[in-house]
Amino acid sequence: MIIAIDGPSGAGKSTVAKAVAKELGFSCLDTGAMYRAVAWRALHDGVSLEDTEAVGALAHTCTISFRHEQGDPVPRRVFVDDVEVTGAIRTAEIDRSVSAVSAVPAVRQALVDQQRRIGSEGNYVVEGRDIGTEVFPNAEVKVFLTASAEERAHRRVRQNADRGIGSIDYQEVLADIIRRDELDSSRDTAPLRPAKDAVLLDSSSMHVEEVIGSICGLARARMAL
Ligand code: C5P
Repeated sequence: MIIAIDGPSGAGKSTVAKAVAKELGFSCLDTGAMYRAVAWRALHDGVSLEDTEAVGALAHTCTISFRHEQGDPVPRRVFVDDVEVTGAIRTAEIDRSVSAVSAVPAVRQALVDQQRRIGSEGNYVVEGRDIGTEVFPNAEVKVFLTASAEERAHRRVRQNADRGIGSIDYQEVLADIIRRDELDSSRDTAPLRPAKDAVLLDSSSMHVEEVIGSICGLARARMAL
């Protein structure tokens, strides 16, 4: 079974996806981390983000993998060709660069192929922007999780402060969220939008436990069919 959780940045997808996966005993795939990993590789290798051909080639050649901490069923560590980038892909520089990278069709093609391969291995909660629309259009459960830009910026600032990575300036984070929403929603390839059959959840007005409970309920109802 695939549970697709899509939505804009900062809506709480990662927290919710990991909790749902834990609760149901599913694996979990953070597709945003994969786009961030390609952006990291491009910056690390000094590849200009405007050189879409070179950026696309990088996405086809670099190996992105996820690893678990011992005793934790959710993979939280990210590697690019055996270099750990778990923290390096969460910096403000990557926040600024990733939408340009994810708009390159060749990058999307390479990563979507990998995402489909990974998801075919078993029961997965997959979070991203185009999971229910493009990557797994036949996902058994589709959720579009959103929240106001202001609420998402507050949460991102708290998350960055806890991690000690990324900007903790509310106005800067809010501006980045609004800019990325615009870029992700207006790009030609796989823009951010809810699938027609997605359940819309607005986490501004719901407690996180409520969101997790709703998604687990949807999944259990499907499993019982
Ligand atoms: O979810 P996260 O904020 O980590 O995603 C980073 C960026 O990756 C997004 O702003 C978007 O540009 C891109 N992305 C995407 N498609 C996905 C997941 C993420 O284009 N399925």
